[in-house]
Amino acid sequence: MSSILKLIRVPRWASVGVCVLVVALIGMGFRSWFQTPTRNLIFISLDTTRADRLGCYGWKDASTPVLDGLASRGVLFERAYAPVPLTLPSHTTMFTGLYPPEHGVHNNGQASLPASLPTLATELQASGYDTAAFVAAFVLDKKFGLSRGFDHYNDDLSQADQSLHGHHRYREGRIVSSSAMQWIERRKENSFFCWIHLFDPHFPYSSHPDRFKDQFASDPYDGELAYVDQEIGRLLKKLDEAELLESTTIVIVGDHGESLNEHGERAHGMTLYEPVLRVPLLIINAPGSTAGHRVAQPVSLVDLLPTLLESMQGRKDLQCSGRSLLPCLRGESLDPGNCYAETDEPFQTAHWAPQKALINSNFKYIRSPKPELYDLQADPGELNNLASISPDLLQEMDTQLMAMEHAMADRVTKAIELTDQERQTLNSLGYASPGSAPPTDTAGLRDVKDMLPWYNLLNDATEMMDAGRYDLAEPALRQIVAADDQYFLAHGDL
Ligand SMILES: [Zn+2]
Repeated sequence: MSSILKLIRVPRWASVGVCVLVVALIGMGFRSWFQTPTRNLIFISLDTTRADRLGCYGWKDASTPVLDGLASRGVLFERAYAPVPLTLPSHTTMFTGLYPPEHGVHNNGQASLPASLPTLATELQASGYDTAAFVAAFVLDKKFGLSRGFDHYNDDLSQADQSLHGHHRYREGRIVSSSAMQWIERRKENSFFCWIHLFDPHFPYSSHPDRFKDQFASDPYDGELAYVDQEIGRLLKKLDEAELLESTTIVIVGDHGESLNEHGERAHGMTLYEPVLRVPLLIINAPGSTAGHRVAQPVSLVDLLPTLLESMQGRKDLQCSGRSLLPCLRGESLDPGNCYAETDEPFQTAHWAPQKALINSNFKYIRSPKPELYDLQADPGELNNLASISPDLLQEMDTQLMAMEHAMADRVTKAIELTDQERQTLNSLGYASPGSAPPTDTAGLRDVKDMLPWYNLLNDATEMMDAGRYDLAEPALRQIVAADDQYFLAHGDL
């Protein structure tokens, strides 16, 4: 076996297609693939994917040979931070280079991107690119504004498996990737930008026994990552067959992570700890990039737009919060910077205090009623809150966070009308909201980290009611209301 094949570590279950791709890539020579100036962009966003569960980020039980192989030939960002642990606002930041306070999309399903703001798609379309998006879930429906700039925006959920997923309306990755491949196959002359969104790692997790038998029976989340890895392998194979690999930059990025029960949170949205904010970010075959380079400095997904437009078009004139990571792609160091993150979800779902965070090379500060400060180098698990030990540093980072907030121009976002069915779909995904505005003064609001047990119990009660066990749900709901008599969702269920 060649050293390259050993590096890729194709496991027994890997599809024949992936093996064929590996052989094909070796045959054509990676050097030529990754050093040819590019004109196309394929942007693959992996929903709910935490970085540390991929092989290239060190997870020993990972089965992600395609992503691991890409990482060794592209640039891997070891500390890429999502700006918010929610799908729509995170994607909106990626495509605008603006943080949520600037583009105005703080939550799922409540606002759409203002038509006045340029996006990666509008900029590339204006440059003559063919543009298409293939999204997997309702939370990225065209009505939320990201469709602007795409010639073709495929958010068709008619093939969503309603019986299997209930109200969790999304279509499987194989359907999304197949649709994208059909569009890509027809691209021969013009440069193109294709966004592919894969939702599979989002709860509920499937171990995909049809592909992997019982390999992931005990950890279906890893099975979902193995599944999307295979789908990306299929896409690469199709690109190779269409002779488009040499001329295409590929971005792989997570929109946010998943707590997987760390810090008391089951999924994502309510906290700002590393499992939900640190996402994979790989940029492969960017012009002038250094293959195999790993970037240790913290970067934000807000940096993607200026990075890609400078890398592909030499653009340096952008008015946005993100900064170009082009030096990183070349293997050069980047000036230290701060990353901003927020979640308004605690307030939207329970009128608990929203959270904001500032992350630098060494520390993370979380502003909340009980503030938190972590030394991410010494304590990557965020288990030792230094807030009371280092009040000066906490104050300094709060001042920096305030300065960052002041620098971000708030923009008014238009309200968007949802049908009852669409609102029900968002509710079923845990994306419910009462539609009220976030508070400007959070004094006196409860701290979400104290309330997560009740949030989890409410989810349990909802499952009990879905199963018809109202006899079990009612005492659980009464427990929740006793703990927080303002918890309107629990009151509503009672
Ligand atoms: Zn998401």
